[in-house]
Amino acid sequence: MSVKVASEWLNSCSGCEISVVDLGERLLDVLQVAEFVHIPALMDHKYFGQLGDGHHVEIPEADVGLISGGIRNEEHLEVAKEMRAKCKVIVALGTCATHGGIPALCNSYGNDEILERAFGTETTDPNRFDPEKPLPRLLDACYALDEHIQVDLYMP
Ligand code: SF4
Repeated sequence: MSVKVASEWLNSCSGCEISVVDLGERLLDVLQVAEFVHIPALMDHKYFGQLGDGHHVEIPEADVGLISGGIRNEEHLEVAKEMRAKCKVIVALGTCATHGGIPALCNSYGNDEILERAFGTETTDPNRFDPEKPLPRLLDACYALDEHIQVDLYMP
């Protein structure tokens, strides 16, 4: 019987999940004992129902949940809580998940200061990111996973 695995990336550079993909042919050996039921880096499983008709984030049940990245915005928090609810064991994968990592350097500054620094510059670029558009709201800081959900195993 294979172990069901769900994997998620939150406030991360995606390096941790890509390291799973980067197993290459060895991934075939892993798949002998593990069944990935959710892993955005490898498969297009929808959060809001396969037809986009759901209203809450929905992740399949799994034995093991791998989460990389910390928690920086409301969407990360919602996904982290859903992973905790659906996975028997939660593994914090990588330093961003276990401690906040490099993205937590933002904690030295307030959100207003960060947004002004990143997006306040005058530009004529039509593709310029507009922080006024509806996006998941930033939390007041970047959090390690265990500051919001219970973590069972740490792999910094
Ligand atoms: S620990 Fe963080 S910075 Fe390092 S590879 Fe993982 S997601 Fe990227």
